[in-house]
Amino acid sequence: RAAAVVVPFDGEGRLADGTPVALLANVGGAADAATAADARAEGIGLFRTEFCFLDRVDAPSVDEQVEAYRGVLAAFPGRRVVVRTLDAGSDKPLPFANADDEDNPALGVRGLRVARRSPGLLDDQLRALALAAEAESALVEVMAPMVATVEEARVFADQARAAGLERVGVMIETPSAALLASEMLEVVDFVSVGTNDLAQYTLAADRLLGELGELNDPWQPAVLRLIGAAGAAGRVWSLPVGVCGEAAADPALAPVLIGLGVSSLSMTPRALGRVAAALAEVTAEQCLTAAEAVLKAATAAEARSAAAEVLGSES
Ligand code: PEP
Ligand code: MG
Repeated sequence: RAAAVVVPFDGEGRLADGTPVALLANVGGAADAATAADARAEGIGLFRTEFCFLDRVDAPSVDEQVEAYRGVLAAFPGRRVVVRTLDAGSDKPLPFANADDEDNPALGVRGLRVARRSPGLLDDQLRALALAAEAESALVEVMAPMVATVEEARVFADQARAAGLERVGVMIETPSAALLASEMLEVVDFVSVGTNDLAQYTLAADRLLGELGELNDPWQPAVLRLIGAAGAAGRVWSLPVGVCGEAAADPALAPVLIGLGVSSLSMTPRALGRVAAALAEVTAEQCLTAAEAVLKAATAAEARSAAAEVLGSES
């Protein structure tokens, strides 16, 4: 296959009828943030903070964390930056946060669940984030990974707000969180759908196993319906629902996600131009029609062709 051509992005995501769609970048640290700024991302929709500390044996100090976070915030002054608290465990184990004797790490103490075992870790991170935000005069938004229950969301939101962080969200990456999106939005300010894990947990298929790729597919109708549940909840509360998994980088799927109620897409910076070009071809009305069509599909193939028929793309 020929290397994909990178389509330039003009820095403003919108549909053919002018409806804005925030196109944001996924980053793992300051170097990525610089790349994202060069690619004219409108902000950062997912800062995977665990990437800053993958090689660490001991937990980073608050000062070390402040420095790492400031490096990212400094690249997007005045822009939206969504910082995810440590998603330690499973495919991203951190020696200072995770036990190494779990039989099923993807179903184990990962993401926000680590905070229960090591409360100081989340305390320190929230403090570091608040300090970094203050130092950079940045509008930081903070979100938690691997949330399954409304209690978890509430405890996280209380803790983040007590640390001085005003905009708080949770990731929707478990079927439970998707089905409870409306209740989640009663206690947080936004949600962001992590389609990589949402597909893994919905289809019960390890995201690291290439041979299960057909199951690990955001076009699977069950995944689309769960994203639709989150989008519908966002519409009810008039609160933002983002997508920050790989699905956001699929130009054929992006308009469908918007039709399902998603208001921002966060992706690898090199995908921004292609997704922006696909969105610029379609109206909000077409996105809605495509979303209605995929929600009736029984298979991933049917969902793809239903969307292509409405949107005229050759997916
Ligand atoms: C996801 O699960 O879709 C996600 C964005 O988080 P990560 O890929 O870091 O698990
Ligand atoms: Mg995830």
